[in-house]
Amino acid sequence: MSTPTLAVIGAGPKAVAVAAKAAELRAMGVAAPEVVAIERASVGANWQPIGGWTDGAQRLGTSPEKDVGFPYRSSLVARRNAELDERMTRHSWQAHLIAAGQFAEWVDRGRPAPTHTGWSRYLRWVADTVGMTVLTAEAEQIAVDEHRWAVRTSAGTVSADGVMITGPGQARRSILPQDPRVLSIAQFWQRAARHQLIVAERVAVIGGGETAASMLNELFRHRVSTITVISPQVTLFTRGESFFENTLFSDPTDWAGLTIAERRDALARTDRGVFSARVQDALLADDRIRHLRGRVAHAVARDERIRLTLNTNRGGAALETVHGFDLVIDGSGADPMWFASLLSQDARDLIELALGAPMTAGVLQEAVGHDLAVTGLAPKLFLPNLSGLMQGPGFPNLSCLGLLSDRVLAARYAPRSSTSPGEHAGRLSA
Ligand SMILES: Cc1cc2nc3c(=O)[nH]c(=O)nc-3n(C[C@H](O)[C@H](O)[C@H](O)COP(=O)(O)OP(=O)(O)OC[C@H]3O[C@@H](n4cnc5c(N)ncnc54)[C@H](O)[C@@H]3O)c2cc1C
Repeated sequence: MSTPTLAVIGAGPKAVAVAAKAAELRAMGVAAPEVVAIERASVGANWQPIGGWTDGAQRLGTSPEKDVGFPYRSSLVARRNAELDERMTRHSWQAHLIAAGQFAEWVDRGRPAPTHTGWSRYLRWVADTVGMTVLTAEAEQIAVDEHRWAVRTSAGTVSADGVMITGPGQARRSILPQDPRVLSIAQFWQRAARHQLIVAERVAVIGGGETAASMLNELFRHRVSTITVISPQVTLFTRGESFFENTLFSDPTDWAGLTIAERRDALARTDRGVFSARVQDALLADDRIRHLRGRVAHAVARDERIRLTLNTNRGGAALETVHGFDLVIDGSGADPMWFASLLSQDARDLIELALGAPMTAGVLQEAVGHDLAVTGLAPKLFLPNLSGLMQGPGFPNLSCLGLLSDRVLAARYAPRSSTSPGEHAGRLSA
């Protein structure tokens, strides 16, 4: 078949990693899919205030050396993988600092974690250096057109042999959107970016993941008396960040040898709903923070407070409790299934046919194959954010972008059996 087109929804680190490796493969004379990133804002937008997930001043949790080529162990081209890795080092974090004249200062300062804005600058630098194709548009629908995807965007339709979904979804979700005392993630960061001080007695943060952790890190600076973190976990776990845990993220070789139950256990302990050690240290030192276990079922405004109803499971018995707060920050927005609302009915039918079951997060997770795409589905649908369970905990995040690009670029595409005359891969039609 002619060169397949891979449309990536979102120009974040995953899109940049795949585009950079595809560009280097082509420079080596090796065939690679044509990568088109569809991005509503700009490259690395979710690491800047514009994306709604940060004020840009927060610091990256993982080390910046876990860059778009990490862990520099390509296995795509027989006998030329060392050459590919050497080429990828030209797009490393260090190469970026050297190009910007900041390398010596970064080393002398003790290799600090960059701010999210600094990280987005790095991503843009890589995207520019490799000439990544970015279509600045909102992806509005993913439909099926014969044997390809038709991604309808605000700037026309992209035909693609594969689609990769990235990003955490909606930062603007709020459990009580009309009430100014309930902030979405995006509203919280807008305030922080404007240096608006939050003054409140009792504050609740819903969610125990990386997003909530960043918000807590910021909230410490504001005038609040108590901060209650609400999450379903028994407690606020710390990500270990020991050699053994990091290895699990950088190198998923042994992951396949674990039972599903062992993998779920490892994921729960290391990734989902877990705070980084840095944030946890700050938490322990601050007596304003407490943890409340439960899932928020609903919220109402009553008696000058926001009342949250929590469902908890205690010893097998369901328990419902109500708690009042002056300010609630809904940090539960990240959703690996956010793309489901983009799927047309025919796209959904095709996916469910391949799954042999209704499309739920659980079923999709178990169907993610070695190439990070849904097994048995043509055209290809790559779901790295749902690949943790089957393929390794590092694929949804920044832990092994170089392995992610290998897996995605090694995918085999079914031959396009009916291609309309004059059609080109990646053609845009307005
Ligand atoms: C505050 C915060 C801090 C984090 N820190 C770390 C960390 O230190 N280490 C780590 O490993 N992980 C971290 N994560 C997890 C992080 O989300 C992932 O590791 C990683 O960013 C995901 O990269 P990505 O390429 O999937 O998507 P993103 O970088 O999230 O990019 C997605 C892009 O898609 C665009 N987009 C969304 N919808 C559409 C649409 N419909 N049409 C067009 N474009 C669209 C957005 O504008 C965005 O640019 C953090 C997450 C958050 C929220």
